[in-house]
Amino acid sequence: MITNNKELADILLPDVKNSPQYYEEKYPQRNLPQDAIVTRFGPSPTGFLHIGSLYAALIEKRAADQTGGVFFLRIEDTDKKREVENGVTLLLDGLKQFGIVPDEGVVGEESEKGNYGPYKQSERAEIYKTFVKELIARGLAYPCFCSQEELEKSRSIQEQKGIRPGYYGKWAKDRNLSFEEIEKNLKEGKTFVIRIKAPEQKGKTIKFVDLIKDEIEMPENDLDAVIFKSDGLPLYHFAHAVDDHFMRTTHVIRGDEWLPSVPLHIQLFEMFGWKVPIYAHVAPINKIDGNSKRKISKRKDPEAAVSYYREKGYPSESVIDYLLNLANSNFEEWRMENPKAPNTEFVIDFVKMGVSGPLFDFVKMNDISKNVIGFMTSEEVYEKSLDWAEEFDKELAELMKREKEYTIGALNIERNSVKPRKDIAKWSDVRPTVEFFYDDVFEVDENYDFSENDTKENINLVLESYVKVLELGNEKEQWFNHLKDFAETVGYARDAKTYKKNPDSYKGHVGDVAMILRVALTKKRNTPDLHEMINVMGKDRVQKRFVRCIEGI
Ligand code: GLU
Repeated sequence: MITNNKELADILLPDVKNSPQYYEEKYPQRNLPQDAIVTRFGPSPTGFLHIGSLYAALIEKRAADQTGGVFFLRIEDTDKKREVENGVTLLLDGLKQFGIVPDEGVVGEESEKGNYGPYKQSERAEIYKTFVKELIARGLAYPCFCSQEELEKSRSIQEQKGIRPGYYGKWAKDRNLSFEEIEKNLKEGKTFVIRIKAPEQKGKTIKFVDLIKDEIEMPENDLDAVIFKSDGLPLYHFAHAVDDHFMRTTHVIRGDEWLPSVPLHIQLFEMFGWKVPIYAHVAPINKIDGNSKRKISKRKDPEAAVSYYREKGYPSESVIDYLLNLANSNFEEWRMENPKAPNTEFVIDFVKMGVSGPLFDFVKMNDISKNVIGFMTSEEVYEKSLDWAEEFDKELAELMKREKEYTIGALNIERNSVKPRKDIAKWSDVRPTVEFFYDDVFEVDENYDFSENDTKENINLVLESYVKVLELGNEKEQWFNHLKDFAETVGYARDAKTYKKNPDSYKGHVGDVAMILRVALTKKRNTPDLHEMINVMGKDRVQKRFVRCIEGI
């Protein structure tokens, strides 16, 4: 016969070995400076890393780093249905690519680091049970035997009557079962979950300060939330309280979909007499869809997956710069003042984070990335774009490796100047900027994009004559003066002004001559600097291309 809550707790959870005190001692307060932030990233091992999760993880990591704190990774795998094989490895690799390496926690499929583990929730059943048992023994939680059908029925009645749905007040059927009734249900072998007994409502609200959303006031929780399932694992809310207490988390930084649950979470911390952590709820990244704004969605948007950025070839620094820019709008100003500084030097500030979600904008993302790549050396661009091409554009990788120095030369054009070139936002943009340098790619077709005003006769004359006077190695200014002189010898004005004064006396001006040379060398009108291209291509190749153009068109 059960006569009190303590006995009930013993019957429901007979195999709990340790006392709550045991865990208090096993996981002592961390010995860190007062302002150090201890925070965590708590993904489910689904293998999918959402851009919004990377964003949150970045904020968490930086918050810990900049205060001399700890950033740890906890795997939230209590929902076994969502798990995929190698999910942890995929997550860790995804984070690592962006320089986010946890200080503590799960560091491999089967490995952990740190004194506050285990860091996988599925391995913490023993701990959760101790505290579920504690709540039952204190009359603050109870077994609920309601079947799925019963719950659905009561929900549909609530809906029909227009009442707030949920298991609370008089709708919490098993809240006041007698010990006899509980015993009878147990004898009949009915399965049960454990629910908290939400404190009686006195029409109160709770107030708390969120680091991002500021002061918040919400009604107190009155739902008898499920904290423990029949499979012996806890639900999120309960695991959050137990884990973040014993892992000595100071700041819970997480997606703002959890904001409505804060009253329940605070209630759980208070039931145990634990210090409530500081909350910071990060608004999701949004996008414009038609006329409205919505969250970037895993189901609808390819850019939701972090792997998308790798496939397109965005350098990880660019993605991080962009996310920091979304997090704190003063990042842009900081970047302007510190164009080459590693972004780890930027100090993030919760107060400057938007309360509602920032808008993801590829134009901005590309601009930021062009800047990041613009400051790289040609060798770096070569190495990084080759790494990317090895995986995503094998043909390009072969060309780059076969003509390494030539490729670096091509990538170096307009790079080391005051205003570096800004035509590469991602490694997949490298191909169009270099492929015409390779003869075998250049020679596959004869589609020269000459202007309609350039007759074949003029083109041939310019090319044939220029071949004879072509000189390499000059400074740009000297080279251009030489080109102006040359223009005059083939019937073009030496500059646009002269041409405009007497358009009938010339075929065009020096700019038109340069364009003919450019198209003959590249087939395109829009290319990097002509003078530098000529020097990188070398005399033989330039001559060969001119001859080819003369003969081919
Ligand atoms: N597993 C939870 C989620 O993915 C973690 C939330 C948290 O950080 O507390 O949403």
